[in-house]
Amino acid sequence: MSEVKSRILELRNLIIEHNHNYYDLDKNLISDFEYDNLINELIKLENQYPEFQDQNSPSRRVGGGLSDKFNSESHIFQMYSLDNTYSDTELETWFNRIVKLIQVDDFEFCCELKYDGASVNLLYEDGQLVRALTRGDGYQGDNITNNLKTINSIPLKLKNKFFPNKFEIRGEIIIPSDAFNSLNEKRKQIGLPLFMNPRNTASGSIKLLDSKEVARRPLECFLYSVVSNDISINNHSELLDSARNMGFNVPNYEKVVKGLDGVKKYIKYWDINRQNLPFEIDGIVIKVNSIKYQKKLGFTSKFPRWAISYKFKAQNVVTKLKSISFHVGRTGAITPVANLEPVLISGSTVKRASLHSFDQMNKLKLRVNDSIFVEKGGEIIPKITGIDNTNRGLEEDEIPFPVNCPECNTKLIKLESEANFFCTNTMNCRPQAIGKIQHFVSRKAMNIDGLGDETIKLLYDKHHLKDISDIYNLDYDMISKIEGHAEKSVENLKNGIEESKKKPFQKVLFGMGIRYVGESASKTLINQIKSIDELKKLDVEYLSSIDEIGDKTANSIVDFFKNDLNLDLVNRLISSGLNFTQVDLVNSSHSLSNLIFVISGVFENHSREELKSLIEKNGGKISSSISSKTNYLLAGKNIGPSKFNKANELGVPVINEVSLIDLIS
Ligand code: AMP
Ligand code: ZN
Repeated sequence: MSEVKSRILELRNLIIEHNHNYYDLDKNLISDFEYDNLINELIKLENQYPEFQDQNSPSRRVGGGLSDKFNSESHIFQMYSLDNTYSDTELETWFNRIVKLIQVDDFEFCCELKYDGASVNLLYEDGQLVRALTRGDGYQGDNITNNLKTINSIPLKLKNKFFPNKFEIRGEIIIPSDAFNSLNEKRKQIGLPLFMNPRNTASGSIKLLDSKEVARRPLECFLYSVVSNDISINNHSELLDSARNMGFNVPNYEKVVKGLDGVKKYIKYWDINRQNLPFEIDGIVIKVNSIKYQKKLGFTSKFPRWAISYKFKAQNVVTKLKSISFHVGRTGAITPVANLEPVLISGSTVKRASLHSFDQMNKLKLRVNDSIFVEKGGEIIPKITGIDNTNRGLEEDEIPFPVNCPECNTKLIKLESEANFFCTNTMNCRPQAIGKIQHFVSRKAMNIDGLGDETIKLLYDKHHLKDISDIYNLDYDMISKIEGHAEKSVENLKNGIEESKKKPFQKVLFGMGIRYVGESASKTLINQIKSIDELKKLDVEYLSSIDEIGDKTANSIVDFFKNDLNLDLVNRLISSGLNFTQVDLVNSSHSLSNLIFVISGVFENHSREELKSLIEKNGGKISSSISSKTNYLLAGKNIGPSKFNKANELGVPVINEVSLIDLIS
């Protein structure tokens, strides 16, 4: 495969993973800057090599999926993301493009703060709040109306009527810094884990299932834009004023300026003064003020052309290094984590920072008591960016990289191709064993509910769960006696484990956690080989000749099957009834003959194409629209409301992919 194509695929996977972490799990592992670099590199390559374009590339979507806890509904107007700039030059390029498009160069900008929270879209009809959605994927969002009704700054009924009877108003849910600190203070007192930062807490809070708990969180809603086709207001700034007069909470920091110099002044002022704001911002949003020009400029598939954000550079602070802990990951990789003298960066206390690898540590040659620079871009896990050479610790206090595994004492090895050292005791090194089980049950692998991280640790430490095969021989009586495991949750766990036996081979293979065999490699392999017996027999040469499988992955697969412990494990899993062949997709039958299916949504276990061919191989037919002749609607995530409602109206049963497999087998 060409290098370009493999880089494009790699970028797509990375971006999808970061989107999932950021939007769905509220975990932020890279800075916005790094994220934008990935996106920009992808867009550039896709433009340069149009043969690798893909409708579903993350470059075409606003990140963020939908959670299955809430009903998802369509926004009336798409919710766009904002293009980012980081420098004056990028701002100038943007400005020049606008001038070229509208043929005017002395127009106004409305500069606003970029509130750092979770975006929401409120719908008002006849002066009443009727619906509140998360941004979701930009087209559809989760319906969180009940949760947002608990926020006092969102008016349920409007004071005045300046806007049409029906309009959408967009805003950001945030937690003010003081309120965030007291929330954490209270949690500390009662022994609850502390929240990481206001942004993630705000976005996690609006997606809680219990509205009463949402009401206890100090959330606020800042509004920043109104969308409707029939508003007769000329400028964005006037829209903001009208919204204010109707009772919306529109912070008063915006400024209308002419020309780029005014914009730059505003940016400079807030870059310095943002420290004194009672809430966090991560940049500035610059909007063309005239609605007429906005309409003329329009949108790209992701962004408005008339607005852009200017992201502030990461904040850099100096603190002292106290020690370094060495963490052992699921694959045995050892990562150093720096323990710091606690320090405040953008409103939150930082005690730890990441050091990516042995190589980085080796380069820095850190000593206890070194003064080090720590950087936090937005709200990511902070990282060490350098040492203050004028203020170093003692030479004899240089922190060595361990020779043996800090958990199991096995001698560490360094693979040539890797930046990290590894512990090779894959089966019996505690964090590796636990990590493997956690990975196996995780959502993208076997998706077994009811085996949380803590339960896994507890069961592992009590020797009830040594490896993933023990999941299929659990003593449920014993589990029901563990605190917090009521009958119902044991029942859930049992069901989850039974269901997992129906998972396709691809998921099982991914779940086994063979190094480098991630989601996409598993999928690629499954397209080439039909069973684990086949896979076992393949050599490095054959494996690496498969498109998208590199040497590293090929070697790792061969090594895996060389180890008797792994072969034993596979045999135990086979006898527990897991899928190690691709039976469901290759067999054909007449079990679906005369049945008509409509497929809609995004599926977890199979691609849409696979499901289509599965139905057809078993005698079923596919139709694109629902009618009284349709026998089943096969529904995945993000299914459009119209299809769903139509199926309900006509009494067409709605099934998921697991039920489809049941129908066949
Ligand atoms: P991004 O999340 O980087 O795509 O940036 C776009 C998001 O910035 C929007 O979805 C809003 O949630 C958020 N945002 C915060 N403040 C503003 C503002 N004043 N105007 C527009 N968007 C804003
Ligand atoms: Zn170890």
